[in-house]
Amino acid sequence: MTLDNIIEEIRKAEKIVILTHETPDGDAIGSTLAMKLALKQLGKNADVIIKEFPKVFDFLPEREEVKQQSDIEKYDLAISLDCADFKRLVGNEYFEKAKQTIVIDHHGSNQMYGDINFVNPVSPACCQILIGMFQYFNIEIDKELGTCILTGIITDTGGFRYSKVTAETFEFTADLLQKGVNVSDIYKRVLDTKTKANFELMRRTLDRMEFLEDGKITFTYITNKDLEDVNAGIGDHEGLVEIGRDIEGVEVSVFIRQREDNENAYKVSMRSNDYVNVSDVCLMFGGGGHERAAGALIQGSIEQVKQKIMNELKKILK
Ligand code: AMP
Ligand code: MN
Ligand code: MN
Repeated sequence: MTLDNIIEEIRKAEKIVILTHETPDGDAIGSTLAMKLALKQLGKNADVIIKEFPKVFDFLPEREEVKQQSDIEKYDLAISLDCADFKRLVGNEYFEKAKQTIVIDHHGSNQMYGDINFVNPVSPACCQILIGMFQYFNIEIDKELGTCILTGIITDTGGFRYSKVTAETFEFTADLLQKGVNVSDIYKRVLDTKTKANFELMRRTLDRMEFLEDGKITFTYITNKDLEDVNAGIGDHEGLVEIGRDIEGVEVSVFIRQREDNENAYKVSMRSNDYVNVSDVCLMFGGGGHERAAGALIQGSIEQVKQKIMNELKKILK
């Protein structure tokens, strides 16, 4: 049983590192901090390494303990959370050198790159996988731990809206409300509050939004110049891809963002409504994700990237 193997490895390890994917979202941040708190209860002081920590999550417990890098050469155990593939794992050099590795994730496209892989693609958030796991380990999900877990659930489900939400999601939330977790405060902080820069980027993406294929696809973009103009910080592009998807008649929303380190490459984000499996589309470009939310990195100019994506989408649109 994998859960028994996981707890055995945790118990054996002294030096533990916790890692997650690049451009971390609420589920990435929530699950790493929740894991740190859980390990604390087991008497382990683990390092969380996150190079670019989005400001919106600064209110979470253990935030000040997060490191950008470590001086430890070789960890006994590395735990990867919410990250489908090794190349997107920030700090994968620590993962590579660790004596033992565990991958815990909810992406259907997970490449099972750990010694132990605990992957449940049905779960709406990596944080929700942790609930069952921690209960099995007899770890108490208190107010602090619950706040981290709920942050991941709220962000990855768009505020309990997406179809992957289960009865357990609501049961757990009700339980936390009873324990005094301020659910509406978390919701407001992580979903309803926009930075000024995010708002300015939204203005630009809306202005540029194109409707393609009879309005079934929306396409828009952001360049490095935009990010500079609005003085964008870490995470300020979040949520922009969702806008197209929420428009009547749209099946797929495509949002591309120029890479800061390579002006001839774009980070692609896709969202779909009913039937297009955007994870499959992104896999064609070496990316991945979930059926209704996925991403990839594509080389070329804005026009070239757009054409590459449209060629694939045209084949599967009904
Ligand atoms: P995003 O559009 O960046 O919010 O990502 C949506 C989903 O796709 C997330 O679950 C990501 O983990 C996944 N994803 C995004 N970019 C990539 C990529 N380059 N390779 C693999 N998966 C990705
Ligand atoms: Mn994530
Ligand atoms: Mn996730």
